[in-house]
Amino acid sequence: MTKTEKLNRVHKKWLKNCKCELRNTATQGVPGYGSAEAKIVLIGEAPGRNEDKAGRPFVGAAGKFLDEMLSSIKLKRQDVYITNIVKYRPPRNRDPSKKEVSTCALWLEEELEIIAPKVVVMLGRHSLNRFFEKAKIKDVHGTVLKEKTENNYQKMVFFSLYHPAAGLYNKSLRKVLMRDIKKLPKVLARVFLP
Ligand code: URA
Repeated sequence: MTKTEKLNRVHKKWLKNCKCELRNTATQGVPGYGSAEAKIVLIGEAPGRNEDKAGRPFVGAAGKFLDEMLSSIKLKRQDVYITNIVKYRPPRNRDPSKKEVSTCALWLEEELEIIAPKVVVMLGRHSLNRFFEKAKIKDVHGTVLKEKTENNYQKMVFFSLYHPAAGLYNKSLRKVLMRDIKKLPKVLARVFLP
């Protein structure tokens, strides 16, 4: 079975069986989207209104800005895989609860296990704290974090960014995001060294 087939099977399974209570209010589940062969996985927080309608991650304004960030380092959506820690839209885009994050956790773990990316880009504090519970985004944005060794992720490099939505209405954060993403090619070059 190819990675794409495995991933499709995982999405189908969880779209049917995920026990997340957000299912009661969301239109539909929003699985990750992109190349199953990608070496870079970007992980956001949760679908917003547009994603909830479309069933795809990052299709709204934050997604447009994310595309701009990617294109500034010559990457396209087709080069990466994009997903969220929570796969259903929280009402009025509130923060996902700990319980909602943990209910969707296995879905995300299975995505990462199949794709086995070299680099994981954590978008925003919820994504950061899903992997690094105590880290503060203001201290670690634009840097590489090493994952704790006792779980499955030790072969992946984790890179932290502010959430692209933060750059939509805040010019200084927009600048920080554009500056931070420019550090990613160096990280990639290091990771892809033979
Ligand atoms: N914000 C996110 O964190 N994820 C999306 O899919 C869209 C906006």
